[in-house]
Amino acid sequence: MIHVRLDRLRAVGASHGRACGPCTACCTLMAVPELRKPNRRACDHVTADGCSIHAERPEDCRLFHCLWLRGAIEGGEASRPDVLGVMFDQFTVREDQSTHTIAFELWDRALDAPRARAVIDELAQQFKIALSYRDGRWSEIDPAP
Ligand code: SF4
Ligand code: SF4
Repeated sequence: MIHVRLDRLRAVGASHGRACGPCTACCTLMAVPELRKPNRRACDHVTADGCSIHAERPEDCRLFHCLWLRGAIEGGEASRPDVLGVMFDQFTVREDQSTHTIAFELWDRALDAPRARAVIDELAQQFKIALSYRDGRWSEIDPAP
């Protein structure tokens, strides 16, 4: 089973030895206001070889590191979002310092797979988690009491 490295949850950069490689999951899943791109829509600039405007990509793209890239999700490349089928994100809202943890499903039922569920269950011991399903549904899991 995959475990979560809590000490890497708030890392602001990529963990040593981790790189996006062929994954472009966030280029579809995440909203990019600078490009007026909503979440769950493939970016106009994403290609099979990655970002076609990599050198000039928006700041939102430069700053984004999913929890796998931060090194918070163990399990090597088998846990990378494009392989696991789930991309995890966690961020803090500056205004109220609230922490948000989201699991984005890339393909149907990926959130139910045992390896992804293990990560969700571990995160849910400490955080409320929002689950974003492939079909557009959302649900929430409250942290364990
Ligand atoms: S989802 Fe994570 S690993 Fe995949 S491209 Fe985005 S930041 Fe990189
Ligand atoms: S601009 Fe590039 S890095 Fe940003 S979402 Fe589009 S393809 Fe991805």
